[in-house]
Amino acid sequence: AVPLVVAINTSTAAQNGMLVRDRIAMEEARNLDTVMFDKTGTLTKGEQGVVGVQTTEVWDEKRVFEIAAGVESDSEHMIARAIRNSAEERGVQREQVTGFENLRGLGVRATADGETVHLGGPNLIEKLGVEPSGEIAAFAAEAGANAQTVIYLVRENSKVVAAFALADVVRDESRQAIEALHAMGIEVAMLTGDSEDVAKAVAEELGIDQYFSEVLPEEKDTKVEQLQSEGKLVAMVGDGVNDAPALARADVGVAIGSGTDVAIESGDIILVDNNPLDVVRLIRLSKASYRKMQ
Ligand code: ADP
Ligand code: MG
Repeated sequence: AVPLVVAINTSTAAQNGMLVRDRIAMEEARNLDTVMFDKTGTLTKGEQGVVGVQTTEVWDEKRVFEIAAGVESDSEHMIARAIRNSAEERGVQREQVTGFENLRGLGVRATADGETVHLGGPNLIEKLGVEPSGEIAAFAAEAGANAQTVIYLVRENSKVVAAFALADVVRDESRQAIEALHAMGIEVAMLTGDSEDVAKAVAEELGIDQYFSEVLPEEKDTKVEQLQSEGKLVAMVGDGVNDAPALARADVGVAIGSGTDVAIESGDIILVDNNPLDVVRLIRLSKASYRKMQ
């Protein structure tokens, strides 16, 4: 039989917008000393929009959007959605592409108009061994300083021929959640595949104690492990496919309800309302419930 106190706790949890899949994790939550948040889609809404584009003499803006939206046709990433939407708003038709490939943690690639075209962030261009020059570099630096995500368009001849600046919005509740966690004496960390510039700006905006940027998908769980090896009891909060191993690794894995199925299956607790403040409620509930049991 389910002990009465735990039964009450689970239904209280449900009333507070959380679904408890692992009761031990719920019990451990009262002793947490670090909460690690994924950035995109967790602390931010994850609804990015294109706020700027920089072209070169190679392709004009219309051509850049035809190619980019074509290459992003088969990607489900919100970056892809933002680029497709922006092309549509401009009344630009997508180029037909073949051989679409997702490059995990880097970006995407496809064959467009007879050549291979890549789209992705700083990790991608580093991997390709190319560096943006002149106006693209200046555009990227400014976008980065404004906490915008920069996505580069790279042609087969390994030249960065355009860049997009995308902006995401921090959830209102993120700031309150971090303040409340600090008031409870809990350290807050952030993990992202996004660039150092964007990570730094968001971390500063939210008062995050420690952050890890440009983290490859397969490295996300090692960052959780790193904190655990420092003797910390760690919660991980995330939404993406890439967050699943980190959610599983954490002492308390918290999945965002609107996240991907894989993340939800890896979480001990699911936040049904996608609200980062519910992490605070979860810890309070754990403290209140398990104090009663002792
Ligand atoms: P995160 O959720 O932290 O952004 P991801 O692993 O989903 O991490 O993405 C890592 C990085 O790879 C992104 O920040 C972006 O630079 C690049 N990327 C991923 N998907 C795409 C895409 N469809 N188009 C362009 N760039 C992409
Ligand atoms: Mg994410």
